[in-house]
Amino acid sequence: MSPDPDRDAATRLCLDCGLCCSGALFDVVKLQPADNAKALTARGLKIKQGQWFNQPCAALAGRLCGLYRDRPSRCRLFECRQYQGVAAGELAEVEALDRIRQAQRQIRDMERLLASTQGNNLRKPLAQRYATALAGASQSDKPLPPELVPAMARLQAWLDEHFRHPLVRTSLLDES
Ligand code: SF4
Ligand code: SF4
Repeated sequence: MSPDPDRDAATRLCLDCGLCCSGALFDVVKLQPADNAKALTARGLKIKQGQWFNQPCAALAGRLCGLYRDRPSRCRLFECRQYQGVAAGELAEVEALDRIRQAQRQIRDMERLLASTQGNNLRKPLAQRYATALAGASQSDKPLPPELVPAMARLQAWLDEHFRHPLVRTSLLDES
């Protein structure tokens, strides 16, 4: 039996989530001094200037990290607000899972809306795809789907309220 069932429950959330790796919550992961850029590159991460890598993460397989035991420092340290609430015993696992599902539904809606725009590159993070869609529309006659802007506003408000930490309003996985 685990000595910390609440933390076990929080860890189970991640197995069903992956939002902090998929490009939905963040654009970039910064390496820290303890990280070995060469070793991470050899494991398939595309490290830029020895300092960061973009999301969606190349190591993400479905919703799981493909190099979990060797993942970079920031990935080890990051705990979203749902994870923290469950790990502290202050939030029910089922409630946190419901919020993750709601985020995933909203992201799927965004994917559908972005598919018909210039922001349809799945290898880019969501915020970047959205910005590309807006920029593309301003230079073309093709209108954006009317739901796109309000859907993005709703999604970002949900992610801010339930996943990101209050002082992190940039897209960098860089809070300390
Ligand atoms: S967003 Fe939270 S629950 Fe989801 S994988 Fe990241 S830490 Fe885990
Ligand atoms: S290395 Fe693993 S934990 Fe870190 S962003 Fe990529 S998939 Fe997520």
